[in-house]
Amino acid sequence: YTYNFNAGPSALPPEVLQEAQAEFLNFQGIGASILEISHRSKHYETIHQEAQQRIKQMLALSSEYEVLFLQGGASAQFSMLPINFLTKGKTAGYINSGAWSEKAWKEAQKIGEAVVLASGKDKQFQQLPNLQVQNIPEELVYIHFASNETIGGIQYKTYPKVGDIPLVADMSSDIMSRPFDASQFSLIYAGAQKNLGPAGVTIVIVHRSLLDSIPESTPDMLNYAVQAANQSLFNTPPVFSVYMMNLVLKWIEQHGGLEGMAARNQQKADILYEVIDSSDGFYKGLAHKDSRSIMNITFGTESSEKEKKLLLELEQAGFIGLKGHRAAGHLRASIYNAVPYEHCKALAEFLVDFQRRNA
Ligand code: PLP
Repeated sequence: YTYNFNAGPSALPPEVLQEAQAEFLNFQGIGASILEISHRSKHYETIHQEAQQRIKQMLALSSEYEVLFLQGGASAQFSMLPINFLTKGKTAGYINSGAWSEKAWKEAQKIGEAVVLASGKDKQFQQLPNLQVQNIPEELVYIHFASNETIGGIQYKTYPKVGDIPLVADMSSDIMSRPFDASQFSLIYAGAQKNLGPAGVTIVIVHRSLLDSIPESTPDMLNYAVQAANQSLFNTPPVFSVYMMNLVLKWIEQHGGLEGMAARNQQKADILYEVIDSSDGFYKGLAHKDSRSIMNITFGTESSEKEKKLLLELEQAGFIGLKGHRAAGHLRASIYNAVPYEHCKALAEFLVDFQRRNA
């Protein structure tokens, strides 16, 4: 295939894959692969610290934040977050904007009291829900939301304002895709496998002020404070995923940093939404215009027969990963950082041509 629009794991920058390939057998001339040496070696520790440093720098994090590399994906964070903070008698607030934030809320309910503050369910998760500030109870331990709903293709442009309540975001599908002010967050988490590298490492950015309140009875591996005190080297970390993530972060720096990513991603999204909007209804964007994601473009065609034909022809022409998630159906083009503009342009041209042949 030629064009990869998978939702995750997804395309990686070819330069990064080449760099990893070149030093796969013999890392920095040590005569062994990075996969074969101790996570306590200075070679691995340097990579680990470089990756942490790059994240701190890219997001201009103050020294009040810890950057952790954990395992279990974003799904493990759905549980770890309430295990650490949603202690007996406390309540957490959840914004339900789609399949992923709903999963996070359901997991939290297994641990303690978790209430939905706003929901987009009645709009089939095609539009961001409206959070009414006056409806937020004061004593919440945190408010959780997902910055980009990967399945529905809706994304926050500005984040919910929640006063003094700690704000927590699942940024799995749009982290490092644009600049944002990280200081408004108490905790951010993201699986790496969309914008940052291979699956296996989950980054967690947590404000130190939260760490003091974690009950000592919390199992070590699931305790943010223990992980922070051990610089995420409490046990063997996913060394290859961290190594790859470090290379991807370096690639982002070399391509204009977050500003560069934002410009590139906006341009890619624009060319695809433009085809959808100027198709006289042949294509339909699934997300409401004011909530559209620039990472996951969800759309359908006039009929399910045409949609099947389109998907088949796309695959034959080398475009992969465009089938929508089973929960949303239709089509989805995931255009994370590593997807080049030229691939989006090729897809846009294919869609225009398909319409010409099938309208
Ligand atoms: N949150 C969001 C927004 C996602 O897109 C995904 C996966 O696609 C997840 C959470 C779950 O991630 P993981 O597979 O790393 O557990």
